[in-house]
Amino acid sequence: MRLFLFAAAIWSLTPLYVNSSFAWSDHERLFTESLQPQLEFLPPLALMHLGPALDEPDGGMDRDLPASADPENERKWMGGTEGFSSQGFRHMYFGGWKFTNPVATFQIPFKALGQAPNRVQETAREARELFKNKEFLSAVRKLGWSLHYLEDLAQPFHSTQLVHWKMAKWSALAHWPISDAMSHFIDETTRTISNYHLAMEGYVEHVLRQPGIFAESPLNKALQDPESFASVRFDSKLQPKALALELARASVALAPELGEAEMAFFGEQYLEPAFDLRKDLGIPDYQAYATRPDLAGSRARFEKVIAKALANGVLASRALVEWTLHP
Ligand SMILES: [Zn+2]
Repeated sequence: MRLFLFAAAIWSLTPLYVNSSFAWSDHERLFTESLQPQLEFLPPLALMHLGPALDEPDGGMDRDLPASADPENERKWMGGTEGFSSQGFRHMYFGGWKFTNPVATFQIPFKALGQAPNRVQETAREARELFKNKEFLSAVRKLGWSLHYLEDLAQPFHSTQLVHWKMAKWSALAHWPISDAMSHFIDETTRTISNYHLAMEGYVEHVLRQPGIFAESPLNKALQDPESFASVRFDSKLQPKALALELARASVALAPELGEAEMAFFGEQYLEPAFDLRKDLGIPDYQAYATRPDLAGSRARFEKVIAKALANGVLASRALVEWTLHP
């Protein structure tokens, strides 16, 4: 704990970049089906647009934006202003450090960061207006965007900077010369957190693309029956931004459980220098992780937490659809 506080103190001097900007690699496959019953009234052509629109915000429209799109300069802390990771500030929300929950909410800077809840609000409002005017094609597209930003917040790595204290590279503090120790620690911890972030996303994507494995997985069950898995319930009368904030809080609450389960499943190897998943160094053998008999216990535990996160995403998405359809 003393080491943690020491690091926290110096960490506060340096930005921790978040380099992974995807939350779920495939919103369309994960979320479209569970929303269809609510949207059945739409012309089929409009409904066909929902899936692609759910993934559209990860396609580049939020990258390399001008400074005017980021008046609070949040990209400084959330992936920089250029390239792939520069979209992160619109796809994440870190709710600020809470004295009452110091480890799970630990982040630098301490203030709330990220535009995702605002993006949910703005795009949902536009979608609602378009639905009212029966401009269904544009309405579904904007609804898809709004759902995307919301669903990203169901991923604990998008709602918490440090999902688990074990994911930081504490040993990097013992670095010589000492004047470089902090920047070395920050670089290393950015790498290790990104590794666990990307390993989780990669694992979910792999399971999703293996029909036999997916059918039996808690991930599939959570999407089919989210009420049985979700850790939170949402009121569809909530304003979209309030809904997004509530979902982000639920993800923060899940983060310690996810962190424990993920470290137990993947082990500590992604702390090692040989692994940098951002650069495709040391890609995990996801098929082995998904099938190895000796991992059955830790796999079930890991998938159960992911299932809760997905179920929270589905229920929040349904509440958002309700809001946009019923002014
Ligand atoms: Zn995203």
